[in-house]
Amino acid sequence: MAKQVVKRRGQRQVEDVNGSGKPVDLDVLQSLVTEMLLALGEKPGRNGLVKTPERVAKALAFMTQGYQRDIDHLLNDALFPIEYDEMVIVKDLDFFSMCEHHLLPFYGKVHVGYLPNKKVVGLSKIPRIVDTFARRLQVQERLTVQIAETLKAKLNAHGVGVVVEARHLCMMMRGVEKQNTIAVTSSMLGAFRSQPQTRLEFLKLIRRGSVGDSD
Ligand SMILES: [Zn+2]
Repeated sequence: MAKQVVKRRGQRQVEDVNGSGKPVDLDVLQSLVTEMLLALGEKPGRNGLVKTPERVAKALAFMTQGYQRDIDHLLNDALFPIEYDEMVIVKDLDFFSMCEHHLLPFYGKVHVGYLPNKKVVGLSKIPRIVDTFARRLQVQERLTVQIAETLKAKLNAHGVGVVVEARHLCMMMRGVEKQNTIAVTSSMLGAFRSQPQTRLEFLKLIRRGSVGDSD
């Protein structure tokens, strides 16, 4: 199972980039949802709720399917040799994730850039890498770092930049923060960290089209 080292706030954390691969136990989830409904004071037997445990279990399984995905398998046959060494940018990728503190959604956009080093990844794979990490219980900072570290390692890229802009329902619905707050996180690796010009070029190119823009 592939492990990778993630540096944050000066600490070294070993993060497991591959999920457990363990299939979701839908039966257990369903009975837990029934118990939750009871604990909330609901009547799980009433019409509108009869199929709710089954629906919630299936929805949770879908929204956490990233645990079943293997990054190496995903990238298999999707790396191509090139001479080209200009920055590659994929921006405005929609993602939906769930915060691991409240099990409520956070969602928004991911912008990815990298400087290739003799190979590139098929463009369609970048959204799938994002989904693999987003469809797990997450915190936004870790999601950002996992996407960046994975691209850096698998592509051996000269540099990688990832910016994530998100709205968190746990902040919005619980009235913790202003309703329009967008949390922005970034991870800059290699040339994106060491060369301000590279970083600026990336930030300039992704600047247009933030979450909620109506253009
Ligand atoms: Zn939360």
